[in-house]
Amino acid sequence: MSHSDPNCIFCKIIAGQIPSKKAHEDDQLLAFHDINPWAPVHVLIIPKQHIATLADVAPEHDALLGAMLGLAPRLMKQLGVSNGFRTIINTGRDGMQEVQHLHMHVMGGPRPWVRG
Ligand code: AMP
Ligand code: ZN
Repeated sequence: MSHSDPNCIFCKIIAGQIPSKKAHEDDQLLAFHDINPWAPVHVLIIPKQHIATLADVAPEHDALLGAMLGLAPRLMKQLGVSNGFRTIINTGRDGMQEVQHLHMHVMGGPRPWVRG
């Protein structure tokens, strides 16, 4: 199940080959702080399994997707975000997805933000 892509930057983060500031890790998910944050708190929640985009998921991934979404509010609370947050999944070229490993941006903290 835990298939990884040797050329994928997020798979390298999961493997510890590229450093990251981790916010959460469990059997199926990793969350780490975005290197170029748009907001005071900006984390990326990713599956450890390499799935390129949200357009590639199948019904077998429903539980994994539920786990990604369910982690977001718990993580924000843990990181001190108490006044709401944004969750964004960019998908494909027109969706402006830059890294081809499924990830959910979760952004919060007091405004103004850098972007978003
Ligand atoms: P997207 O445009 O949705 O594909 O977003 C990719 C995100 O990954 C951007 O917000 C980048 O800042 C972030 N990113 C790229 N490389 C790294 C890295 N090595 N560590 C943390 N975040 C990264
Ligand atoms: Zn990957």
